[in-house]
Amino acid sequence: MFVRIYLYFFFLMVGAVVGEHFLPLTTPWLGAFLVDLWIAVIWFLYDARRAYKILDWIKVGHQNGPPFLTGLWGEMGERVHKLNRLHQQELESSDRRLMEFLTAIQASPHGVILIKADGKIEWSNKTASDHLGIDLLRDREQIIGNLVRDPIYQSYAASNVYDHEVVIEGHQSQINKPLRISLQLFPYGDGRRLMLTRDVTALEQAEVMRRDFVANVSHEIRTPLTVLAGFVETMQNLKLNADEQTRYLMLMQSQANRMQTLVEDLLTLSKLEGSPMPSGMQFHLVEQMLKICEDEARGLLSALASNQEGFKPHQLSFDLSPLSLGLEVAGNKAELISAMSNLISNALRYTPAGGEVHVSSQINEDGEWLFSVQDTGPGISAEHLPRLTERFYRVDRSRSRETGGTGLGLAIVKHVIQRHGGELSIQSVLGRGSVFAYTLPKSRLRFTVAQNSDTQSEQSVA
Ligand code: ADP
Repeated sequence: MFVRIYLYFFFLMVGAVVGEHFLPLTTPWLGAFLVDLWIAVIWFLYDARRAYKILDWIKVGHQNGPPFLTGLWGEMGERVHKLNRLHQQELESSDRRLMEFLTAIQASPHGVILIKADGKIEWSNKTASDHLGIDLLRDREQIIGNLVRDPIYQSYAASNVYDHEVVIEGHQSQINKPLRISLQLFPYGDGRRLMLTRDVTALEQAEVMRRDFVANVSHEIRTPLTVLAGFVETMQNLKLNADEQTRYLMLMQSQANRMQTLVEDLLTLSKLEGSPMPSGMQFHLVEQMLKICEDEARGLLSALASNQEGFKPHQLSFDLSPLSLGLEVAGNKAELISAMSNLISNALRYTPAGGEVHVSSQINEDGEWLFSVQDTGPGISAEHLPRLTERFYRVDRSRSRETGGTGLGLAIVKHVIQRHGGELSIQSVLGRGSVFAYTLPKSRLRFTVAQNSDTQSEQSVA
């Protein structure tokens, strides 16, 4: 700045001296004045041109560096450029933070919508758009109340009381595939609102299942309990002879047994749900487990025979394919035996006397263990098959109760098999019979070589 003033006055002085000595005018002062005026104009034009260069550079958005200028204007250009760069960096970093923040909200399993004070959508993440059927591009700046037409939401939004959430039908809800969305509004800023949405379909279904389960258990226990209480009352009020007493006591025992079996099955299910996954290191010989199941099945057959006069026993056969000889399975032995026994006892209980039940253990083409129970019983029609493993689901309630069923057997089997990484399959033809089978993965199998020899070497199939 000082250099600039100094130079300006220096040129004025030079101009005054030149004018005074060389301009042949009336007075030497007039010559000095005219030359100074001329120098001042040139100086002004030169300076204005430099100033306009800076101004033009600022006007076009000064993306590139400032024009090359010395002196005051050059320094001013440099400083503006530096400030501008700083400002640009701050903008970029806040843009980046905003993008990171929005990306994080996009990744959230919950839906988020920002609503302006006038009710227009400012921003929405994909989850919220899917929940409510909002098109991210088309519906920005649309009034949210025009898009979410559910009356529950409409009255909630109008109430201005947002201390609770409401549940509405989701955008793609169908009768056979309902979608339930919970949403809540949170006011913030200047009349703005934040809407959070989440899919509560599974939660609601679990709640319905819990309620059904409690109702089913109460019903299952209440029935034998009522019968039992009736017998007790009869025995208290009536004088019964010894035969009648024995008969009543037997009936009471059967109801008590029914309740006991139900409680045992319920405990088994709850234990299965709460216990850790079965070990993959403890191996059990399939032949041994089959032997235990066969003994149990023969016991059940003799019990059935002793309960019914003229009972024609089932033809029960066990088949161990040569490939599955020496097979060992890793897992929980008690659970596996209970799954196998459940399938065998179902086949015996539901197949009329004299029918055939065939149990087999094989290795399938994928190298998995395939355990199957085939019967020549009544069969099950196709519409029941998908629901058979639901708790308390029965095709024929009276037959199930008659044979001491609880409606929990297949639920237990499915649970056990899933815990061991396997799959349960059911095939049935009405009037012809059924095949209940499961597979367990290769990773849980191994073979003990030469069971009857002294060699103890083991060979894994996994
Ligand atoms: P339950 O204790 O009543 O036998 P399960 O869960 O074991 O309960 O079986 C559910 C239902 O599936 C049974 O009530 C019965 O209607 C049907 N079911 C199971 N196994 C057979 C089978 N082998 N043949 C015909 N129906 C069967």
